[in-house]
Amino acid sequence: MPNLVEPDTQFRDHFVDFRVAKTVNTIPYDEAIPQKPARETPLGNHSSKKVTVVGMGQVGLGCVVAILNQDICGTLALVDIAAKKLEGEAKDFQQGSAFHQHTTILASDTYDVSENSDMVVITAGVAQQPGESRLSLVDRNANIMKKIMPEVLKYSPNATILIVSNPCDIMTAIAAKLAGPDFPQGKVFGAGTCLDSSRFQTLIAQSIDLDPKNVHGYIIGEHGDSSIPVWSSVRVGALPLLEPGEEPNETLKKIHKSVVNSAYDIISLKGYTNWAIGMSTAHICKAVLNDTRTIIPVSTCVRGLYDVEGDVFLSLPCSLSSQGVQRVAVLPLTDSEKATFQKCAKGIWEVQKPIWENLLPPKEVKAEPAEPKSEG
Ligand code: NAD
Repeated sequence: MPNLVEPDTQFRDHFVDFRVAKTVNTIPYDEAIPQKPARETPLGNHSSKKVTVVGMGQVGLGCVVAILNQDICGTLALVDIAAKKLEGEAKDFQQGSAFHQHTTILASDTYDVSENSDMVVITAGVAQQPGESRLSLVDRNANIMKKIMPEVLKYSPNATILIVSNPCDIMTAIAAKLAGPDFPQGKVFGAGTCLDSSRFQTLIAQSIDLDPKNVHGYIIGEHGDSSIPVWSSVRVGALPLLEPGEEPNETLKKIHKSVVNSAYDIISLKGYTNWAIGMSTAHICKAVLNDTRTIIPVSTCVRGLYDVEGDVFLSLPCSLSSQGVQRVAVLPLTDSEKATFQKCAKGIWEVQKPIWENLLPPKEVKAEPAEPKSEG
């Protein structure tokens, strides 16, 4: 038997008191101020949560590293068609288990390993080559999405599904249509401009020598070339970056240009992007799995917002719950921001339309009927 000693009793009592104190929920707030309702996290605690990442290429690896290091789930399942490489990656991750909170790592080229996931992150698909746009990937990645979604839904019909594969907004629309009309709205959503907004906040913060966490601002619309910086709502601390009606100066315009060019720049340097998208994916997973209602810009159906018609998915700031997108923050846009948003929706719809209209109705996803039992 290992020689384990009991800790000092006084020390232990201290922890007991601490735990009791933490569970007291009777802070006397003013009754006129609405309080956040007390609720249990519907998905249970950390160790009961299961996340599956589909696609173990550069982006999938970035997601796994961030998820493991941020202690987000008790089980992490990895799925990819490249079975041998997947086995290598899974073994490599498992061998780091002494250095993070206990997370069981499973891996397979079949989806049974993903069974009963709370959240599924889809990163599988072709990536941009240097100079290639995200929209050019649409046909190839739509075909991959058609293979993946029925499998995901078969094994995890209650999961919240996050789409990372590009072009992210169109892939999210396709995944949502494949999930079918009965799948709860908001449970399929895309990583969208979460990453673009982080790039935006970081560059603004660098230009004024502040912590990026003190810059609150959103890139909305497409995760890609036609993304929109909402200058009118950028705040530094609580201060508006621009006065009402003030136009962004040349430095600010360059910042947005740099956000748009970020992926092209990094891909020309190292061949792919993965760490920042991995961190933003983990940030989104944490909000969903802990039901935090954090506001994050993600891709959701914007039909009916800013006069957009049609089933276009674009990013707007959304509060995220265990059920995915809970509410959408409809920002007060200036006329020119609104016109740019509508133009962006139109551009996305033109690329999406041919695939969207030919997308077959979702296959009935039902468990296999049980073998008839022999009588007697
Ligand atoms: P990659 O080529 O390194 O990896 C893709 C992986 O997908 C490969 O391991 C491949 O085997 C796997 N795959 C292909 N078909 C599959 C299928 N049917 N089932 C399961 N796995 C399958 O590419 P990457 O750099 O990891 O990029 C992946 C996707 O993420 C691309 O579409 C890329 O453009 C996108 N991406 C999105 C963002 C974002 O912000 N949303 C950021 C970076 C990259």
